[in-house]
Amino acid sequence: MTKQAPVQKNEYIDVVFEDLTHEGNGVAKVDGYPLFVPNGLPGEKAKIKVIKLNKGYGFGRLIELYEKSPDRVEPNCPIYKECGGCQLQHLSYPGQLRAKHNQVQEVLTRIGKIENAIVHPVLGMEDPWRYRNKAQVPVGEREGGLIAGFYQKRSHDIIDMEACLIQQEKNDEVVQSIKRICEKHGVRAYNEQTHKGTLRHIMARSGMKTGEIMVVLITRNTDLPNKNQIIQDIIQSNPDIKSIVQNINTKKTNVIFGDETKVLWGNEFIYDYIGNIRFAISARSFYQVNPEQTKVLYDQALKYAGLSGKETVIDAYCGIGTISLFLAQQAKKVYGVEIVPEAIEDAKRNAKLNEIENVEFAVGEAETVIPKWYEDGVKADVLVVDPPRKGCDETLLQTIIEMKPKKVVYVSCNPATLARDLRILEDGGFKTAEVQPVDMFPQTMHVETVVLMSRVDK
Ligand code: SAH
Repeated sequence: MTKQAPVQKNEYIDVVFEDLTHEGNGVAKVDGYPLFVPNGLPGEKAKIKVIKLNKGYGFGRLIELYEKSPDRVEPNCPIYKECGGCQLQHLSYPGQLRAKHNQVQEVLTRIGKIENAIVHPVLGMEDPWRYRNKAQVPVGEREGGLIAGFYQKRSHDIIDMEACLIQQEKNDEVVQSIKRICEKHGVRAYNEQTHKGTLRHIMARSGMKTGEIMVVLITRNTDLPNKNQIIQDIIQSNPDIKSIVQNINTKKTNVIFGDETKVLWGNEFIYDYIGNIRFAISARSFYQVNPEQTKVLYDQALKYAGLSGKETVIDAYCGIGTISLFLAQQAKKVYGVEIVPEAIEDAKRNAKLNEIENVEFAVGEAETVIPKWYEDGVKADVLVVDPPRKGCDETLLQTIIEMKPKKVVYVSCNPATLARDLRILEDGGFKTAEVQPVDMFPQTMHVETVVLMSRVDK
C-alpha cells in the first residue's frame, strides 16, 4: 500500500508548506501526496524527515527552516512543545484568525458546496491569553511530592505545570495552592496503573463577573485523609472560594468525573453572568470556558435571529439554557431541548433565577422531541441549533425542512459537519446568508461559527 508514496520513511526532503490542517500541522505535497508536519506554517521552506507513511498521506518532522513565515512568532509558553493543549502559539494572532477564516471558507466551499455566502472575518479577542474560566488538571507524584499539570503529548505521563497561559491566573493559583495543601496533609495522588491513591484531578472554576471560585477535588473513593484541615486551609488560601466540592470517581477510566458529588463546604453553586443573565453553575454543569467570547457568540446568534418579540423560537441542543435565556428576552416564547437531564435542571433553575417565564425546557434528543413538538402544533419562526462536534441528526434536519421556519441560526464548533448540514438545509429550501466565525479558543485550532440561513421558497 505504502508503495504509492513518492517518498520513503526516514528520507530527508526539502518542501514548501502550502496549508495548515485543522489540527494545526503544516501541509507539504510531494507529487500531490500530502505530508503533515507539526510546526510548519504556510509559505515556509523547510527540510523535513519523513516519519510515517499511510495510504494517501504521511507525516514528517521539521528539521530545518530555510525560510520563515512573516507570521511566525516565538511561542509565549515555556511548555508549548510538550503540552498538547495549544497548537498555534507559533503563529501570530492575526495569522491565527486568518487561518481560521480560511478553514471555514474552505470547508463551506469544498464540503458544503455553498456559494456566495459572506464569510466575515473571525471575531477575535483583544487579549488572546488567560481567557479560560476552568482549569481541570490531573494529579500525579514525583519524588514523593504531588505534581499537577497536563498529560505529555500522546502519553499519560503527567508534567508539572506552574502556569497555563490560556488559563485565568487565579485558577492557576488555586490549583497550585490546592496541590500544596493536599501534599502538606499527606494526600497521595491516584495511580492509573495500580488503581490506588486518592486525588485524581483538581478542578478550579471561576465566575468572570462575580469572581466566585469553585474548587472540585476528584477522588478515587470517599476517603479524603485530614479532610477538615484540608478544607480549612483551602478556605483560608483565597477569600473568593465560595464552594468546595468532592467528586468521587471509583472507575478505572480516562473520564474525569464520577457519579457522586458531595459539597464539602460552602455553596453547591457559584454564580456568573453572561450579559445581564445570571447563571448558577454546579460542579458538573456544562458552561462555556471563554465567557468574554461567549457573549460575542450569543450576541451574534441573537442578531441573526432578528427577533421582534412576536416569535416562537426553538433552541436545539440548549445545554443549561444559555442561548434560550438570551433569546427569551426578545421573543414571545422559547422552547429548549437537551439530552442531559442535569443540564435541563440547570436550565430551569436559571430561568427562575432570572425571572424569565416564556421558556419551556424538555429533556430528550432534539431529533425526537422537535418532531413531536411539530406534530403537537408548535411552529417555530426561528430555529437555533448548537450541536456537538458530530453535527445535527439527519431526522432533525428533515423536520426543520418540513417545519419551514423563516430563519435557522446554526452555531457550530466543527466547520466540517456544519458544511455538511448546511448543504442538506440548502437542498431543503434554505439559503446560507451570512457566516460569522468567532474565536472562542485562541492559540488552538478550534473555531466556532454562527450561520444565518433564511427560507427561500416562502
Ligand atoms: N447551547 C449550549 C450547549 C451547546 S453544546 C451552550 O451554548 O451552552 C451541545 C449540547 O448538545 C450539549 O449540551 C449536549 O449534551 C447536547 N446534545 C448532544 N446530543 C444531543 C441530542 N441528540 N439532542 C439534544 N441535545 C444533545
